[in-house]
Amino acid sequence: MFFEVFVVSLFGLVFGSFANVCIYRMPRDLSIVKPGSTCPKCKSLISWYDNIPVLSYIFLKAKCRNCGNKISVRYPLIEIVCALLFLLMYSLYGFSYILPSFCLFAFSLLIITAIDFEFQIIPDEFSLFLVLLGLGTSFFNYFLADTVSMRVLQSFFGLLAGGGSLVVIAVVGKWIFKKDAMGGGDIKLMAGVGTFIGWEKVLFAIFLASLIGSIVGISLIVFKKISKKEAIAFGPYLAVSSLLVLFLPKPSVIIQTIFMLEEQFLLKYFFPHLQNLR
Ligand SMILES: [Zn+2]
Repeated sequence: MFFEVFVVSLFGLVFGSFANVCIYRMPRDLSIVKPGSTCPKCKSLISWYDNIPVLSYIFLKAKCRNCGNKISVRYPLIEIVCALLFLLMYSLYGFSYILPSFCLFAFSLLIITAIDFEFQIIPDEFSLFLVLLGLGTSFFNYFLADTVSMRVLQSFFGLLAGGGSLVVIAVVGKWIFKKDAMGGGDIKLMAGVGTFIGWEKVLFAIFLASLIGSIVGISLIVFKKISKKEAIAFGPYLAVSSLLVLFLPKPSVIIQTIFMLEEQFLLKYFFPHLQNLR
C-alpha cells in the first residue's frame, strides 16, 4: 500500500514535469522533445539535477541557476496537482490494468485545462490521444460494462455521445446567437473523454460543465470582472467535470435511487396500509 502510493506519486510528479513542458511549448508550436528543458529567458539548458520536480524549485529558490530569472510558481504547482490527480485515480482504480490509462486521462485533462485557460485553444493532439487511448484500453475498462464486447461498444457510444451532443449544441447555438457558441476543440475533447467514461457519464459531465460554467460566468458578469461579450474558455469546465463524474454514480443509478427513496417515503408516510401487500 505504502509502496504503491509512493510509486503513483513519483509517476505523478514526473508526468507533472512533462505536463509543464507541454503547457509551455504546444501552444507556441515548439517541439516537446527537442531541445531539453531550457530557461525561457536566457535559453540555457537546464541540467537534470536542476530539473527534479518540486525539489529543484525549492533548492534553486525559484531562480534560474544561470541568469537568476524568476521561475514561475506554476511549475511546482502543476507537478503537485498532477501527483494528486494520479493519487485520486489510484484511490478509484487501485493498482489495476486500467490505472495507467486513467492517469494519462487526468494528465491530458490537466494540460488541456492549463492551455485552454491561457490561450483559448485545445490542442487536437491530446483529444486524438484520448480517443485512441480510450478506445484502445476499453476492453479492460471494467467500469464501462461487464463483458469485453459491451465495454468496447460503451466506449464507442461515449465517443458519439460526447462529440455528437456538442455538435448539436454548436449548431443550435450558432442558429440562435448567430455566432460560434462552441469551439471544435471542445467537441473533439468530449469525444475523447466519452471513450473513457461511456455515454451516460459524458452527457452528465457536459451538463455539469454547463451548470458550473453558467454559475461562474454569471457571477463574473454580476461582479463586473468581465463584460457580457468576453468569451470564457469552456474547456477547463469540461475537463474538471469529466474528472468529477468519475467519482459520481451514473445518472440512471441516481434517478433509480431517487425513485426508490420516494417510493419508500410514500409507502411509509402516505400509504402505510399498502406496505403489507409487498
Ligand atoms: Zn536563465
